[in-house]
Amino acid sequence: MFSLPCMDSDTRDTYDDGLRRPGGISRTAPGTAPFPVRSPDTEAVHAGREDLAALGLHAPPIDLSTTYPSADSRGEAARIDAFAAEGAEPEGPPVYGRLGNPTVARFEQALARLEGTDSAVAFATGMAALSAVLLARGAAGLRHVVAVRPLYGCSDHLLTAGLLGSEVTWTDPAGIADALRPDTGLVMIETPANPTLAEADLRAVAHACGSVPLLVDNTFATPVLQRPAGQGARLVLHSATKYLGGHGDVMGGVVACDEESARRLRQIRFATGGVLHPLAGYLLLRGLATLPVRVRAASATAAELARRLAADPRVARVRYPRIGGAMIAFETHGDPHEVIAGVRLITPAVSLGSVDTLIQHPASISHRIVDAGDRRDAGVTDRLLRLSAGLEDVEDLWADLDGALGRAATAGEREREGRVAVGRDTSR
Ligand code: PLP
Repeated sequence: MFSLPCMDSDTRDTYDDGLRRPGGISRTAPGTAPFPVRSPDTEAVHAGREDLAALGLHAPPIDLSTTYPSADSRGEAARIDAFAAEGAEPEGPPVYGRLGNPTVARFEQALARLEGTDSAVAFATGMAALSAVLLARGAAGLRHVVAVRPLYGCSDHLLTAGLLGSEVTWTDPAGIADALRPDTGLVMIETPANPTLAEADLRAVAHACGSVPLLVDNTFATPVLQRPAGQGARLVLHSATKYLGGHGDVMGGVVACDEESARRLRQIRFATGGVLHPLAGYLLLRGLATLPVRVRAASATAAELARRLAADPRVARVRYPRIGGAMIAFETHGDPHEVIAGVRLITPAVSLGSVDTLIQHPASISHRIVDAGDRRDAGVTDRLLRLSAGLEDVEDLWADLDGALGRAATAGEREREGRVAVGRDTSR
């Protein structure tokens, strides 16, 4: 069903956890003086960088060190022991790149501020981040996962194949409570989901989880549109490769969470090695600064494209999230492969969240690895196309889409005429 984006983010002053929405007013805690609550737009630019002026710097430094000299090996041993026991960020100078990196730590602090969590732990990719969560829960003896389809194809595959020793029960949001078992360590959901843009009521989902941690993959919404931790999620995962980086030139993953969960994840990261490279950490921190403006601009474009697609007779169905965003899912009457082949300005490529508009066919690419029956049951039809709106002019994008839909329709007509002609030939 096509519906216009909900404009909650502009009309409510604060997020559930108190961070001020853009244009909102500062809150006053009951019985206290007003305290400064910074808008996400401000956090995006300043979080993780508060010490720079005192350091005499404007841009964050990139620390590429893999190791750090220390003449005090007793002190270093104590810090390693503390990390092994607790998983807390080591006090004092860094020890070794796999324990932590100062540039990456800036990105982690900034993302935690934006998601409204105590901490965040960054990884080499989104899949490395999810792997660390599954390993942490499995190591605690809680290897059963309850998950809601659709998920990103590789996340689905990781759970379905049980590659990390987990066992999954797939359900819909209404079935979560019944699917929980004593050994359930995690409930996982994406909302809006990749690629159908299905949305869930996060509060209701969190309630159904009871004491089992809820992981929300917030890659599509970003903290600009939705902050799941304020609605009961214990873990908020991002493929930072997408909107957080924002320019299609950096891979990363991150889990924003409470400090207790972060400690377990740091220990897993240290032991398994899926660290984020410091250059990637720098690029992701830089990407965060423009995240709110990029997401809002691309969302306005996506909403307009979704409106036009919904009114187009060549298009069978359009899905656009209630909370808005820069993603559109649509089905054409014609062959979706012809639409992909027909774009000239839009980039025909997997991934999303870049400055340029991308289009792909989930059944062929992002969700190829999911069993075809499971894929279709989750609403990922063979006609579905997924578009990630970028920052180009909306009229240029529409002209390109219009042309591609036209070429696809013409190709379809030609194919039908060919079939009719062959039919005539054979009937003779
Ligand atoms: N989560 C979602 C919603 C994704 O779309 C993706 C990748 O497309 C991932 C996780 C995995 O992220 P990465 O490719 O950074 O490993």
